[in-house]
Amino acid sequence: MNYTKILKEIKEEVEPLFKKGKVADYIPALKRVNPSHFAMSLQLFDGTTYDIGDTNTKFSIQSISKIFTYTMAISLKEKELYKHVGHEPSGNPFNSLVQLEYENGIPRNPFINAGAIVITDILASKYKDKTFDKILDFIRRVSNNKKIDFDKEVDDSEAEFGFRNIALVNMMKSFKNIANKTDDVMDIYFKQCSISMNTKELSKSALYLANHGVDPITKERFLSESQAKRLNSLMLTCGHYDASGDFAYRVGLPGKSGVGGGIVAIVPELMSICVWSPGLNSKGNSLVGTKALELFTTKTGLSIF
Ligand code: GLN
Repeated sequence: MNYTKILKEIKEEVEPLFKKGKVADYIPALKRVNPSHFAMSLQLFDGTTYDIGDTNTKFSIQSISKIFTYTMAISLKEKELYKHVGHEPSGNPFNSLVQLEYENGIPRNPFINAGAIVITDILASKYKDKTFDKILDFIRRVSNNKKIDFDKEVDDSEAEFGFRNIALVNMMKSFKNIANKTDDVMDIYFKQCSISMNTKELSKSALYLANHGVDPITKERFLSESQAKRLNSLMLTCGHYDASGDFAYRVGLPGKSGVGGGIVAIVPELMSICVWSPGLNSKGNSLVGTKALELFTTKTGLSIF
């Protein structure tokens, strides 16, 4: 497969769409990002990579961090987890409060904000004041890169304007689904959202998910085969909030998006992919990123279906 040629074609075909998306504007630190950025990286099992666009530019990984915190939590206490968070698509926006109220503070899945906050709380019960260091350390291990860090400006902005997230954690606390102090949990959650990475680093970080839980390059195991199956299934059904069905329909791969405009997707037993373009569609997923992945699976035939 001539991936270099395919990436070039994709870039040309998505360029007219750059102005169509809307950069996340819920915090000033993201509102400033130039919507014309585009980057796409493919990471194969033998270490070969293919890159196009601004692949060295870091962006805010935001909700993509949820796949890494869920990996950590599922390895800690999987059965216990299901009492606190489900595994059904929510059919609602990522920061919705409504469903959480009538479902007694148990979020539908770990990839909407409420579910990810519960996962952070579970990690906080185990790792106490070392929790964020543990998360960062885990992401440094999956990316095999000790330099990964968070962006202080984004973190401050998340904390200053995180009213809905603070409402979510308080609502869950009222249903006794949060064990730790809400401020402590949110401090960690905002930091994990603020981790900065580029598409090369993120595609590398998701490679273990394409290989049944084991990084095929370093041979390190991060999940059991069954756990990797379950996490990938969650990405397919819940990775794009209330547009998860649309993403699966158009792209046909497990994927996870973030409001920073990044999307990670995996082709089982072959590669992991990261695409970044900050302009979002109305559901908070990268508009160009989704299109680029749709073009990728259409041109290569590499979807899971
Ligand atoms: N920081 C964002 C929030 O909490 C993360 C959501 C996302 O990336 N979809 O609202």
